[in-house]
Amino acid sequence: MEKGTLSVKSENIFPVIRKWLYSDTEIFLRELVSNAVDATTKLNMLSGKGEFTGDTKDLKINVLLDEKNKTISISDKGVGMCLDEMDKYINQIAFSSAEEFLKKYTGKEESSNIIGHFGLGFYSSFMVSDKVEVKSLSWQKDAKPVYWTCEGNTDFEMGEGDKKERGTEVILHINKESEEFLSPFRIREMLDKYCKFLPVEIEFENKIINTTKPAWTKTPLDLKEEDYLELHKQLYPMAEKPLFWIHLNVDYPFRLTGILYFPHIKPELEIQRNKIQLYCNQVFVTDSVQDVVPDFLMLLQGVIDSPDIPLNVSRSFLQNDPQVKKINSHITKKVAEKLEEMFKKERKDFENKWDDISVFVRFGMVSNDKFREKAMEFSLVKNIDKQFFTFPEYREKIKLLQTDKNKTLTILYCTDPETQDVYIKQVKKREYDVLVFNNLLDSHFINFMEGKEEKLRFQRVDADSVDKLIDKGTESIRLLSEPEEKNLLELVKECLTKEKGPLAQEKEPEINISPAGSQDPAVSIIFPEFMRRFQDMSMLSGMKKNGNLPEAFSVTINSNNPVFSKILKMLDPEKKKKSILHLYDLALLAQNRLKGDRLSQFIQDAEGRV
Ligand code: ADP
Ligand code: MG
Repeated sequence: MEKGTLSVKSENIFPVIRKWLYSDTEIFLRELVSNAVDATTKLNMLSGKGEFTGDTKDLKINVLLDEKNKTISISDKGVGMCLDEMDKYINQIAFSSAEEFLKKYTGKEESSNIIGHFGLGFYSSFMVSDKVEVKSLSWQKDAKPVYWTCEGNTDFEMGEGDKKERGTEVILHINKESEEFLSPFRIREMLDKYCKFLPVEIEFENKIINTTKPAWTKTPLDLKEEDYLELHKQLYPMAEKPLFWIHLNVDYPFRLTGILYFPHIKPELEIQRNKIQLYCNQVFVTDSVQDVVPDFLMLLQGVIDSPDIPLNVSRSFLQNDPQVKKINSHITKKVAEKLEEMFKKERKDFENKWDDISVFVRFGMVSNDKFREKAMEFSLVKNIDKQFFTFPEYREKIKLLQTDKNKTLTILYCTDPETQDVYIKQVKKREYDVLVFNNLLDSHFINFMEGKEEKLRFQRVDADSVDKLIDKGTESIRLLSEPEEKNLLELVKECLTKEKGPLAQEKEPEINISPAGSQDPAVSIIFPEFMRRFQDMSMLSGMKKNGNLPEAFSVTINSNNPVFSKILKMLDPEKKKKSILHLYDLALLAQNRLKGDRLSQFIQDAEGRV
């Protein structure tokens, strides 16, 4: 067997770098400014060690646009390069000085704030330039200035230069296809996107464009509420003030800092994604963080900064990596802990925020096992009287009155207190409690809870006739005789389903006698729980049904309402029919489903009665 070393032909690798390595040409500026930041960081480190004794006060990086000569230049006052270094780090593609430098000067790579890594960033400049010039003067004593130039092929020129001040200047001669970058507006935009939080001051058009010590890089003890709000404003100038935030700060087993903000999430709003921004050593990487952050946390806003996120060269997409999974579960844990702490320390305050964070918590509970375990401690339910309970608290509260004959605990809920008022009133009359479930994900949550806990079920207040919602096994009193009930049922069926009846078009609508209280509505429309939930779910997934009534409904007749003995005694069949139809309209009205012709007719008839 022969052994050998693979080699790469530079004239072949060059086009690869130029065309394919980076998905987005605009990142050239990020790469060159990052190099300038690295060079400055290195100088500061040397100064800290006492190796560099010169002045380190003004180490601003300058970005200059020369529209006339079609150049963009980036200059720093960092360590600079001597001829040997230029030959080593620039002339050898994919050779980075980062590791070498850190080994030599700090002994441990771990504490690094150096951005560079792959030794390829510099060459991204050829994506937008015909020609690149580098002028550099090293920090080392008696160093000679160096000049380097290359016209985007594998030939370069290198020799003594004329740079007077320490540092490096990179001059890009922008090519024809990239002239869009020769606008101050465009440059400001790129700097704002990628460089807004870099740790060294960057000047463009006489303005410092960045915040060198953003809040997430500081310790929470040094920060006030305003500081968090200010960062939020910087990140999301248009957004509403956040509810609260979590400051992340991890050293082990990976390094990660960040601040996650909880925005006001309105249940009816579409879930917004891509709000959290990912940074690596204060350089913006991406705002598609789906690999790093669990799905439900995508509802949050803020910044995550980690030098340990395994980025590829172009940084724009993340690999499926065990490290990422760890980061993922750590963030989840932190968020759960924060919520738990808020709940335990300031319950009232937490309750006030509940409406805004419930979508988020529900999403977390149905999508993430770990989060759910924790969230059981602080996730709340709210009843119609605006009282809040944890799930165990709520069980205790209702168990006496709302356990049915099979020992199943029945939780009653409404989805819209306003339109379901008639049903809610009936239920309340029986001293039952009613929860409000009005967020997008509550139906998932309900399904989940039923699946998880035995002897527990949820019924919406209109899921059955009131006394059957919780079947206690007691026979209800029947005020009508059996033949009278039969008569009544026949009558109602005929009125509603024959030819011109409102349900004539429906396939076998279910119509039942279900005696309740004499004060309870005479006719009600009910939606059996499971069919309705199934329909709600398909609505959520986009299969909408037209028409006023969903497929599964039934009409129940409360034969104990005295109105029916009156109707049965009527002699005029037309009058009988009219009365039944009127009661049916009232039932539709109670469901906010009286619409179209029936609504107009109803109004006209009612006006006639004034
Ligand atoms: P990386 O930044 O990943 O190391 P680059 O291709 O961006 O790779 O740069 C290669 C090397 O060139 C750097 O590691 C550094 O040693 C050197 N270099 C690039 N720009 C500068 C600069 N402005 N000042 C000093 N050294 C630089
Ligand atoms: Mg670099």
